[in-house]
Amino acid sequence: MLYEINEKALELESRGKKIIKLNVGDPDQSTPHEIIETAYEAMKRGETKYSFAAGEPWLREDLANIHCVSPENVVIMPGSKWAIFLIMYLLMKNGENVVIPSPHWTSYELIAKSVGAEIRFLRTEIDSNWQIDTEKLEELIDKRTRLLILNNPNNPTSKVVDKKALEKIVEIADARGITILSDEVYANISFVKVESILGLSHKHILINSFSKTFGMTGWRIGYTIVQKGLADRLVKLQQITLTNVPVFIQRAASKALENMNELANKMREDYKRRADLASKIFSAARLKFTEPEAPFYFFPKCINLDSEKLALDLLDKGVAITPGTAFGQYREHFRIALTVPDEEIKPALNIICEALE
Ligand code: PMP
Repeated sequence: MLYEINEKALELESRGKKIIKLNVGDPDQSTPHEIIETAYEAMKRGETKYSFAAGEPWLREDLANIHCVSPENVVIMPGSKWAIFLIMYLLMKNGENVVIPSPHWTSYELIAKSVGAEIRFLRTEIDSNWQIDTEKLEELIDKRTRLLILNNPNNPTSKVVDKKALEKIVEIADARGITILSDEVYANISFVKVESILGLSHKHILINSFSKTFGMTGWRIGYTIVQKGLADRLVKLQQITLTNVPVFIQRAASKALENMNELANKMREDYKRRADLASKIFSAARLKFTEPEAPFYFFPKCINLDSEKLALDLLDKGVAITPGTAFGQYREHFRIALTVPDEEIKPALNIICEALE
């Protein structure tokens, strides 16, 4: 339904209808000028050739310093989605299972299915503030469990896993021999502090991206931090598939890191202002939701709502949202992404609230 609604929204737009698109997590802010200039200068210098499959040594080193690991643990990827796919492709070869807390980003499910893994969803609820129930987690794990996917902060709930819960989850994973894949693509612009998986253990896997922090979704650059053995296997796969992420794009990413604090602060401020506005409008409409701890998403609930029908009705009214069913068994929920200019948020949310009355 995530992709279906998007296709429909694009089609309506192509026919001249104005659609406020709250359905995709693609920041409306353009890539900062200095990042674009850096890529352009690198292209002009001739950094347009084949290069290292693992990524350029200088970028790996910058990231290693940020995450307090060795450069050999860092692999540059064309976006974090590709990283997640390659890791699952390598780790889930023999029909093992993967535990995914739900609601979950659609791609985890689709990637797991595409590599033939069995999926075990661990349901979380709005009423318990989307906490992961570690007893239930233990019950779901068996001998064939290979991977646990943590999305911290979470898409679609914008919930951050608190430190105690994270420690308990790592303890369980370590005791049961499971690898945690921690997707932290929203962590740099989160509203609250995010404990990275690497702060607790270097045995597990970190996934991160330049897409959201720097408004660079279309540049296709992300990275993973893994143990050396897995890093080597990932690099081999990149050698026989994409060869390397373009060097001029890696130069742009390096520039982004150089200005990270300033750029991330600006991004965070934009989303906090929008989140506060959305929170005010939804509270006034007495909608049930949890305050976001990270940017972009709200995932409200309305009793007896058919969110697929709501999403289709709203398209006619010029607003695109994503039904909760795109993230698991959450028909009574819907997701909005505040990735549109400030002035579009109020009218769009008012249309949603009216449709729910
Ligand atoms: N992880 C999560 C949780 C996401 O929401 C997204 C994008 N919607 C991604 C990864 C993909 O990021 P990238 O552009 O780096 O592939």
